[in-house]
Amino acid sequence: MSLERVLLGEIPAYRFTRLTRVRHAIFTRHGGVSQPPFDTLNVSWAVGDDEAAVRENVRRLYAALGADATRAVRVRMVHGTRVALVGAADAGKRLPDTDGLITAERRLPLAMTFGDCQPLVLYDPEHHAVGLAHAGWRGTLGGIALSLVRAMQVAFGARPERLQAFLGPAIGVCCYEVGENVARAARTWPGGDAWLHERDGRLFFDLSAANRALFQRMGVEVIEDAGLCTACRTDEFFSYRREKPATGRFGVIVELS
Ligand SMILES: [Zn+2]
Repeated sequence: MSLERVLLGEIPAYRFTRLTRVRHAIFTRHGGVSQPPFDTLNVSWAVGDDEAAVRENVRRLYAALGADATRAVRVRMVHGTRVALVGAADAGKRLPDTDGLITAERRLPLAMTFGDCQPLVLYDPEHHAVGLAHAGWRGTLGGIALSLVRAMQVAFGARPERLQAFLGPAIGVCCYEVGENVARAARTWPGGDAWLHERDGRLFFDLSAANRALFQRMGVEVIEDAGLCTACRTDEFFSYRREKPATGRFGVIVELS
């Protein structure tokens, strides 16, 4: 198993078993105070949930992980491919137009919210640096996995063959029906046809396969896939696709200890 479900105090979360040197958690929809359709551990302020409930949920998340919420670096995601290098001076900031963060700073939580898009975590054991990115179809096919690796190379001199990539829970190829626009974007990549599956005349996109292939293209050899579909598993995660128009977002936090 590449992923294990743990209890952090009373809050359930998933962890990559191989990512032992990074404090991290993929939270679920459980353990919070939000009412349906945001039940219960919604950590997005942008989905229409009660603000006091979100505040309490966020507090619980950081308390569960033992991380300092006031130092967290967050992003205003735009489904793009910009990756920012952050350090102590960015503690507590929310960066605009950013879908990826990397850092070598300890005790600096990198935090993002998800509800079908794929969380990408990249760890450099040689330089003890970590990155977190948000990859929907646009970010994935824009090449955010490549941006993440390149950012680590530029900032820390990372060697791709020593990096470890982790693909988090996301909407799976079982459920992610897409249109011709996504198919066209996928086919601009060599081998991109393999990320599309046709069933009953409908097209499905495989986020994990695409992100895995793009990490491999950069020379990353260790790639772990959570193998969990958010849309199949709304008992555990929020899924915008399955639950739209209104649902919550689950949190992912990584921090170098
Ligand atoms: Zn599914």
